[in-house]
Amino acid sequence: MLITNATLITWGVPNQILENHALYIEGDRIVALGPSSELQAKYPQAEVLDARGQYVMPGNICAHTHFYGAFARGMAIPGDAPKDFPEILERLWWRLDKALTLEDVRYSALVCLIDAVKHGTTTLIDHHASPNAIEGSLDVIAEAVQQAGLRACLCYEVTDRDGDEKAKAGIAENLRFLKSQISNPHSQIAATFGLHASLTLSDATLEACRATHDANDYGFHIHAAEHEADQYDSLKKGGTRVIDRLHKFGILGERSIVAHAVHIDHREAELLGETGTWVTHQPRSNMNNAVGAAEVEGLLRMGVKVGLGNDGFSNSMWDEWKAAYLSHKAARRDPRRMSGATVAEMAVTNNAALAGVFFPQAPIGVLAPGAFADIIFVYYRPTTPLTADNLPWHILFGFENSMVTTTICAGKMLMKDRQLLFLDEVEITARSRELAKRVWARFQA
Ligand SMILES: [Zn+2]
Repeated sequence: MLITNATLITWGVPNQILENHALYIEGDRIVALGPSSELQAKYPQAEVLDARGQYVMPGNICAHTHFYGAFARGMAIPGDAPKDFPEILERLWWRLDKALTLEDVRYSALVCLIDAVKHGTTTLIDHHASPNAIEGSLDVIAEAVQQAGLRACLCYEVTDRDGDEKAKAGIAENLRFLKSQISNPHSQIAATFGLHASLTLSDATLEACRATHDANDYGFHIHAAEHEADQYDSLKKGGTRVIDRLHKFGILGERSIVAHAVHIDHREAELLGETGTWVTHQPRSNMNNAVGAAEVEGLLRMGVKVGLGNDGFSNSMWDEWKAAYLSHKAARRDPRRMSGATVAEMAVTNNAALAGVFFPQAPIGVLAPGAFADIIFVYYRPTTPLTADNLPWHILFGFENSMVTTTICAGKMLMKDRQLLFLDEVEITARSRELAKRVWARFQA
């Protein structure tokens, strides 16, 4: 496929904006970039897709999400509003996830994936929980991802909060899915090993998880220090802080993801840097749960690799960009905090490198020959000069997620001119409403 008449945003190093350019795709890869006339002469037989001057850029990447949370939208929590994050966990998430069946898991993934296609998010790293439907849950999500045509890394969040049997079942589900990906790999599905959070994991369970594999093999994906409660719990359990505890149990490493890290101290930050562990930042979630603002600028300055996730909020990553940009200024009362370039460093550069950990076959998040053809078209008519240097601020103050008109993942067109080509939004959302009603009834029971 030859995409012509495009203004390419490469997100390469250095980032380039190339007007009236074309992009030639073969299979799931980008083969060539060049002026439209040049590539049209070079590939005269290619099927042509006229971008009509739109911006054409790499699809967005989400470094940490929860498809299973989709049915929480609009749901009422009985009683007074939860007063803090531990209460939100107990009264919302740990009741919602218990109410999910495998069909709910499928449809909550599908509705998130529709959202992702429509808003140009092509790679997602999910963290799943459904304590009453553990076995096979990752297969169900993988099927939904394949149906959607997107790219995702999956895991099941092991926890002791529902007893020993379910902790063992969570470990087994991670292992089963990891093995199935090794024996029967799919180029758009990857796996890692999920853990809920230090505060719901005993020493014995952490040891059992670590015994299944080395962190350098498949990594671990865990929430850490999202709220002070995680630190209090860790100190009580073994006299160490959370990141020290995870380090002691061999959970950290270059393939491991620590989500949040809001309440860590300097030595814990050093440990994350020394071990090459990934940190993901979710500012909308942090604000919603009132857990505080993570010191991600400091982490980045220390060389810690910080990416941007959405923690189950809408899969429109530019909304997360905006939340990051604004929330740190508000939290510190300092307009110099969290520049657009820093947001882009997390959301573009670091998210692409993190995606590359799980999908090493080809570069992701860049328009370059040999890279995966994960591409979006953006209908944006800038009213002021737009350059490679000021692009992050155009994204923050000008781009809207509704401007995404076409989404391509692995060379396959998933949405064209805002029409979804593979997912039946009417059918999926109708079924989702029926299922969510039943989930809400079980939640309230
Ligand atoms: Zn999360």
